[in-house]
Amino acid sequence: MLFADAHLHTNPIKGLGAKAVARKFKGLGGWFMAIVSLPPHHYGLGATFNDYVKSIEVLINECKTARSEGLVVKCLAGIHPADLERLIAKGILKCDEAYYLALKVLNHISTLIKEGAIDGIGEVGRPHYKTVPEAFVLNNLILRHSLTLARDLNVNIHLHLEQGGYITALDIDELLGYNSVSRSLVMLHHLDIRAAVEAERLGLFYSVPGKLQILREAFKRLKPVYVIESDFVDDPRRPGVSSYPWDIISNQKALVNDDVVNEEYIAKLNIDNIVRHYGVSPP
Ligand SMILES: [Zn+2]
Ligand SMILES: [Zn+2]
Repeated sequence: MLFADAHLHTNPIKGLGAKAVARKFKGLGGWFMAIVSLPPHHYGLGATFNDYVKSIEVLINECKTARSEGLVVKCLAGIHPADLERLIAKGILKCDEAYYLALKVLNHISTLIKEGAIDGIGEVGRPHYKTVPEAFVLNNLILRHSLTLARDLNVNIHLHLEQGGYITALDIDELLGYNSVSRSLVMLHHLDIRAAVEAERLGLFYSVPGKLQILREAFKRLKPVYVIESDFVDDPRRPGVSSYPWDIISNQKALVNDDVVNEEYIAKLNIDNIVRHYGVSPP
């Protein structure tokens, strides 16, 4: 069996970094990973435009490093909704300043996409926790702008969303209707089972976290139309917030061994759906 991690972050400054992560992941049967940018403060950087440029350079290097370990890698850069919210909530920037900074960063990302250094946009969207209303609106503006960019550039986009079940899926379904971006390019990332059921019903593409309890439920309730992610944050100070990329492999193997799921279903998630969404060649 071969395995993919549809969405993770690596941090070569404070965490394990892509080299160690890719090596261990590949050693257990991993073939593909999509590495997504971290906010600059995760690398000890500030919040100026130049800090974002530097943080994206770190990401590009991490993607190169993972490729040199023999993995197929897609590289996505964006502005995390929690990051934008933090800039406003901490009073680092006013709402309009944060908006124009985000536009400038997305413009820079677009240039890198055209140059072939970055493959897609992610993550953008809305925080999954309660936030000040203006920050929510700001993130919604950036979400819509990013969807337009993804449509124009014809690239993947990862959306980080509130866990609103039906309402979350319905809102994105409507947004994609207005925007005419290709649905196969848009991934609603880190959905809980409730939202996943609704996304499946509306024909939205999504990922679920590869934790054992979630996968056990997902394999029983969902058609094999989605992908699995670790959403590893590579932060040694927050070890419990996400899975290790190799844990999502061992969890899937364990559930195959327990006859909760068969190898055909696993291959659809880890190969077919990855190939279709990311436009990569099969392993
Ligand atoms: Zn996220
Ligand atoms: Zn993430």
